[in-house]
Amino acid sequence: MAKIKRGRTKPCSRCEKTNDVLYRVRVGEDGEWIFVCSGCLDQVKPGNPHY
Ligand SMILES: [Zn+2]
Repeated sequence: MAKIKRGRTKPCSRCEKTNDVLYRVRVGEDGEWIFVCSGCLDQVKPGNPHY
């Protein structure tokens, strides 16, 4: 799991809230990367073996 912390705040790919700390998660078999907050990470993880 990659913990991304940069100077610039990014929006979460799922809830679209901006957050200082976002997690990079790979979704789908094509390896698309999204950035999600810790709250959404819990929602993404169970059905996502690729994170
Ligand atoms: Zn989120």
